[in-house]
Amino acid sequence: MPLVNMKPLLRHAMDNGYAVAAFNLVDYGTVKGMVQAAESLGGPVICQVSAKTVKYWSHKEVVSWVRTAAEDSPVPVVLHLDHCKDLEMIEACAKAGWTSIMIDASELPFEENLEMSKRVRDIAEKYGVGMEAELGQIMGVEDDMHVAEEESVLTDPADAKTFCDALDLSAFACAVGTAHGFYKGEPVVDFDRIEAINKATRTPMALHGGTGLSDETFAKAIARGSAKINISTNLKHVFVESFVKYHRENPDDFEPLRVIDAQYQACRLLFASFISKFGGGGQAQPFLESLKVAA
Ligand SMILES: [Zn+2]
Repeated sequence: MPLVNMKPLLRHAMDNGYAVAAFNLVDYGTVKGMVQAAESLGGPVICQVSAKTVKYWSHKEVVSWVRTAAEDSPVPVVLHLDHCKDLEMIEACAKAGWTSIMIDASELPFEENLEMSKRVRDIAEKYGVGMEAELGQIMGVEDDMHVAEEESVLTDPADAKTFCDALDLSAFACAVGTAHGFYKGEPVVDFDRIEAINKATRTPMALHGGTGLSDETFAKAIARGSAKINISTNLKHVFVESFVKYHRENPDDFEPLRVIDAQYQACRLLFASFISKFGGGGQAQPFLESLKVAA
């Protein structure tokens, strides 16, 4: 089917107590693996892409992969732009066929962040796509962003309400104690804050830094309104390690298709485990039916 808008999907997830897994794609094989994993479970999936990856491949290639993989699939697939600070790239993606875009102006003071995010809201409205924006600063390292623990600012629920009321977001990214990258110890996730923010905003929350959180943490966050959970670091590691592992175990096999197949199967299993863990299995059909009712 054609790519779906992230907004009604995350609303459905929040209202029905599950979260949609969002994975940062690397290449066509990873996209195919995400869609196949979603299909095997009858669940929706978000293929998201970092600004760095868009620059590496070009818009045209990325959108053609995700459209191709989704075209013959019965499950809803979103193409989302992750953490972008560049309005030109955001508009180019919305124009090229992305069904959701993210502005991350979280390093700016509140008013400037809101101003910049409003400009992106206008772009999202113009192209009829979903939108994510961030308030507070999520710690850790993601692509070219580095936020030290002492610089990270947890999101204030009252500010979150002002921010979300002005933007009509599909997903709200906020700092609640999770971090990008690998955790050194068990992170202190502020569940009361997640609950207070969701109560104040009634906006599906995007939980960043999903790699390494426990099943219990995921379940508690989802029960409090986290409707999109991002997995990036975990995929990066499986992507590289599965390739290396195959070669170590089969040092004389130089058939590239077998090597990349081993890699993609490992990625597919990873995707399926998270889709299932977040409760997304079996949600494709109920979501699609809810769209018919709304229309
Ligand atoms: Zn993130």
